[in-house]
Amino acid sequence: MTMRVVLLGTGGPRPDPARGGTTTLVRCGDDNILFDAGRGVTVRLVEAGVPLAAVNPVFITHHHFDHIGDLYDVMLATWMGGRKEALKIYGPPDTKRIVDALLTQVYDKDIGWRHMGEPAMGGWKPVAVTDIIAGDVVDTGRWKVTPHTVSHGHGLDIPPAFLHRWVCHGYRFEADGKVIAISGDTVDCPGLDRLAADADVLVQCCFLASPEIDNEHFRRLAKHTLACGDTVGKIAARNRVKTLVLTHHRPRRDDAMLNVLAEEVARDFSGRIVIGRDLTEIEV
Ligand SMILES: [Zn+2]
Repeated sequence: MTMRVVLLGTGGPRPDPARGGTTTLVRCGDDNILFDAGRGVTVRLVEAGVPLAAVNPVFITHHHFDHIGDLYDVMLATWMGGRKEALKIYGPPDTKRIVDALLTQVYDKDIGWRHMGEPAMGGWKPVAVTDIIAGDVVDTGRWKVTPHTVSHGHGLDIPPAFLHRWVCHGYRFEADGKVIAISGDTVDCPGLDRLAADADVLVQCCFLASPEIDNEHFRRLAKHTLACGDTVGKIAARNRVKTLVLTHHRPRRDDAMLNVLAEEVARDFSGRIVIGRDLTEIEV
């Protein structure tokens, strides 16, 4: 079975002409499994030559807008692209609430208009959304995906009642004896070790190189919110990862700091390092 990782978006919340919102596609045989649905995802799917109707299911890591901003586009564009089955969406608690709001309060008129006015599309094809937590497993027999809870801002000064609702996932994808780990947005934490252990490929958020961590805001970010160049190599080495793919980059004017980042990570990790760009493909 051929297995490939395609980086559809490697940026973050700040608009970057070169990078979409963090989104990763796993192509496994005939299946196209989407992890997150950030800014520009459907455009990148078309650029990557992936038939929109063939995208299913979608796993959401967490509810920041750089990861779910174009989820509506995935739901509607896959339908317009010929999707016949229900689009399955899995994500942390509140994913169902968000999807229901998009379908019944934001795009209900659009869906109704196309459903009634453009019968050639065969009528609306539903979305089946399921909230999942660590311990759940989605197993198709061809591949399985396991969510693990990761730490993304949980150490910040945010009230516990809010953090209780702020559940963030990374995902471990397994098929044919191979493991692809999708870190989600996280800093170093036990959940990240669980999903990344012995992975063939770890797609890891990495926002900054160490020289860029030069103020209090970035120090807090690197400690609590997004892993950076000072930790990602250690995480990959400790977990015996074969290929480390870095995504979720800040907008930069040129590649100079990406080269610094690559050198920094290589000091901690002797495996293969891929500095991700939109549409980078990695054979597994
Ligand atoms: Zn993010």
